Amino acid sequence: MSKTSRKQDALDYHSHGRPGKIEVIPTKPTNSQGDLTLAYSPGVAEPCLKIAENVEDVYKYTAKGNLVAVISNGTAVLGLGDIGPEAGKPVMEGKGLLFKIFADIDVFDLELDCKNVDDFVKIVKALEPTFGGINLEDIKAPECFEIERRLKAEMKIPVMHDDQHGTAIISAAALINACEIQKKKLDKVKIVINGAGAAAISCTRLYVSLGANKANIVMLDRTGVIRADRENLEGTKLEFATSRDIHSLDDAMKDADVFIGLSSADILSAEALKTMAKNPIVFAMANPNPEIAYELAVKTRKDIIMATGRSDYPNQVNNVLGFPYIFRGALDVRSTAINEEMKIAAVIAIADLAKENVPEAVNMAYNVKNIKYGKDYIIPKPIDFRLITTVAPAVAKAAMDSGVARHHIKDWKQYQIELQK
Ligand code: NAP
Ligand code: MG
Repeated sequence: MSKTSRKQDALDYHSHGRPGKIEVIPTKPTNSQGDLTLAYSPGVAEPCLKIAENVEDVYKYTAKGNLVAVISNGTAVLGLGDIGPEAGKPVMEGKGLLFKIFADIDVFDLELDCKNVDDFVKIVKALEPTFGGINLEDIKAPECFEIERRLKAEMKIPVMHDDQHGTAIISAAALINACEIQKKKLDKVKIVINGAGAAAISCTRLYVSLGANKANIVMLDRTGVIRADRENLEGTKLEFATSRDIHSLDDAMKDADVFIGLSSADILSAEALKTMAKNPIVFAMANPNPEIAYELAVKTRKDIIMATGRSDYPNQVNNVLGFPYIFRGALDVRSTAINEEMKIAAVIAIADLAKENVPEAVNMAYNVKNIKYGKDYIIPKPIDFRLITTVAPAVAKAAMDSGVARHHIKDWKQYQIELQK
């Protein structure tokens, strides 16, 4: 298919029929006058009064408990940059669609005309009565860090900025498995992180909390190596500044075990790749084009494990492996947060699932015979229907164990059955 016809297909997909990708569907009967008197006035006053008496009853009588807000101000949309809230709306509707098809979570997408951190926090905070959870999306760094930090502190429902933590969780699962296959230890590997934005900072924080050694990490941004002696380093970058005698990407790549790319296309050369340690791990995740082209990387190093953000190559680091199920688990125990314990539980569940035998339906969907844990399959495929019954319970259990669950699941077998419906 030509590029022009693919572009036209995408435009047609969105504009044909009713414009956009989502609609609201009633969940109760609406066929008779009687139904309508229950759905709206006067019947609706009864649940209103119950909730007024006990605010927790909002979960019993309304859609709140299964409703997530996907909220963006359009300042960092995909890799397209600050294209504005309206231009970001197709992405937010798309995210809503993914929440629905993978985890049966309903979404209102909210595109805010608001770049100011204080105002953004104020608006989102005021939305708490409506939603069971908040998925922040495509908000630029560094504002995204403060927005998320403040909302997490001030809200009693789970808040997650998916561009940070979704990527961190999926790539961490991939990294754990890649280290295992390449016979490397996470606490020993030398890691180069190219990029110091929303995704890179959050990924690095999670790798460290899983055991990576901060002293073995070198981070770079557009200016080069983030060194402790650089002037005007802002808070988030300072966290990973190095004092080692490393001054360029080429210096950093020498003998490195792991390269994490969360920056932009084609900045890693084959020459630099050649200088990495034996059995290197390269996650070149810039979208749509990775830091080094897949073909070039695997041609240059036969001993490589390579992952990208793309669906047309093996090992796609795709956030859809995480966010639907992380929110599913969080909502099902009415968690007040998505905390570190829950994120780590998701990492381990995703990593472990890749080691299980792959069901025939998944093989068939990808038109391959025998997908098997190894260099070209370090994380599950996005359409793997076992993700919901693996990741959601792991997250729910971690919420209960870490004391942020307001509802406790007792019958895990029954919960699994409900998740499969
Ligand atoms: P971001 O907040 O804008 O951060 C981008 C970072 O990359 C910035 O720190 C920037 O440096 C740095 N950078 C850009 N070009 C560079 C270069 N040539 N050399 C070194 N550093 C460079 O964006 P983000 O949300 O973190 O996303 C970053 C990239 O990762 C995007 O391409 C995005 O599509 C991709 N991504 C992929 C996945 C996935 O595969 N699942 C998930 C999330 C993000 P400065 O700080 O100096 O500007
Ligand atoms: Mg995003």
